[in-house]
This record gives sequence, C-alpha cells and structure tokens, in this order.
Amino acid sequence: MAICPSCGTKVHSPLKTLSIYGDMDRKKIFDGNKVGIYECSHCYVKFPFTTSSQKLEIVRHDDFSELRKDYENAKRMNEELLARSSILKEENSRLREKLELLKLESAADALDREVSDLRQGKGLLQEQISIFIQ
Ligand SMILES: [Zn+2]
Repeated sequence: MAICPSCGTKVHSPLKTLSIYGDMDRKKIFDGNKVGIYECSHCYVKFPFTTSSQKLEIVRHDDFSELRKDYENAKRMNEELLARSSILKEENSRLREKLELLKLESAADALDREVSDLRQGKGLLQEQISIFIQ
C-alpha cells in the first residue's frame, strides 16, 4: 500500500511494479528495490513508491552452490545435535534423580550406623550403671 504524496490518500495496488537496481559498491554489493507505480484514486497523480528494498551481491554460481551445500550440511548437523541434546537432557535428568536417590540411601545408611552406635553406647552405659547400682 502506498500513500499519495499530493493528497495523502492510501492507494492499495500499483498500476505496475519494477525492479530497480542501484550501483555496485567496492564490495560488489548493491541495492535491489521493488518499486510500484501507483495512481491516486482521489487526485489521479501517478507516483512511484518503493515496496521493498534489500542489499544484493553477485556471487559466482559455483561458490553459491558450495555455500548452499555447506549451509544444508550445517543445518542437518544442527538438527542432529539438537536431537542428541534433547536425549542427553533426558538422560541427565534421569541420572540426577538416580544420584538424589543414592544420596538419600547413603544418608539413611549413615543414620542406621549412627543409631546402631548409639544403641551400642547405650548398652555399655547401662552395663556400667548396673555395676554402680549393685
Ligand atoms: Zn492524491
């Protein structure tokens, strides 16, 4: 959609569209613009309006094919790594739960030993007390 520069009316569709390319700079990059030629429905002025603009570069076809192949490979590797990462996250979660369980079991064993030691100590103390009581 374009806006008439004379009266400000919104014009929805162009009479025609053109591709206009700017001059190439030292890095062989240039602007590529899509320009629509619009006619105002109110004052009938015809005017150009840029609908899109982007930087373009001329690249040899072989180089571009190579880049596209590299990109596809990188994309596939990324997908594989994401899938592997997801599996590893699940495995990590499982191992953390297992570790937590082992820690609890270890703490329970330590408590059992402490209780056993305390019972043994209690038994010894009762024996010593019984000697003094008699
Ligand atoms: Zn107008």
